[in-house]
Amino acid sequence: MSRRRQIYEGKAKILYEGPEPGTLIQYFKDDATAFNAQKKGTISGKGVLNNRISEHVFTLLGNIGVPTHFIRRLNMREQLIRQVEIVPIEVIVRNVAAGTLSKRLGIEEGTQLPRTLIEYCYKDDALGDPLVAEEHIACFNWCSQDELHDIQDMAIRINDFMSGMFAAVGIRLVDFKLEFGRLYEGDFSRIILADEISPDGCRLWDMTTNEKLDKDRFRRDLGGEVEAYQEVARRLGLMPEGGENAVLDLDSHRKKRDK
Ligand code: C5P
Repeated sequence: MSRRRQIYEGKAKILYEGPEPGTLIQYFKDDATAFNAQKKGTISGKGVLNNRISEHVFTLLGNIGVPTHFIRRLNMREQLIRQVEIVPIEVIVRNVAAGTLSKRLGIEEGTQLPRTLIEYCYKDDALGDPLVAEEHIACFNWCSQDELHDIQDMAIRINDFMSGMFAAVGIRLVDFKLEFGRLYEGDFSRIILADEISPDGCRLWDMTTNEKLDKDRFRRDLGGEVEAYQEVARRLGLMPEGGENAVLDLDSHRKKRDK
């Protein structure tokens, strides 16, 4: 494999220069971190599952008209994406109280919220991604008012779509994190969905048992991380029926099947 220029290495992904200007290759690692990287580990096979799950969700979102950075999956761990300028805000969408919301406000985990709640964190590892208000975003010009409106509209649309998608397979979408970026087209830029959507950045609970099918298994030392991620992939129809536990590369699977 030829050497590629690495653009950025994050906690769970690496970005490489893409084959054409304006593109990047997003590589999904098995590394897992929690609590602002105070807890570190590896979940073997996680990168493959997240690549596949994120491809699926971004493709469906693209189909309903949500602009995303996703172009196509390249292989088990990599996808081709559009290069964007990341807006330095993590957008958290919540339907059910859990995690830091429950802790901060003393609301029991699992309490259905009366309406969807959008929170913002300033993306800064050294500061531990602090919670900020819309006022901070405007004051420090992390994005414009118009951009924030687009982000809010998209976040609600994505939440509605994903809540239905997961409900259809018996999963409650408790909360999730989104990241957005600016795509430059000449002198103009528009906001598109970036990063990934996977059990790393979503809370996904089984509808009937409330079993956690997401990164809380790692954060809270519950074990069975990869099985939980596989279960999400299986319910979304991304695992071969009756197949062994290993995740198959669907392209090579199809090729073998169609021979
Ligand atoms: O920890 P907290 O309750 O604030 O997380 C809310 C949601 O956002 C969870 O689904 C979590 O996985 C996600 N999140 C994330 N990355 C962060 C912070 C939160 O993916 N840095």
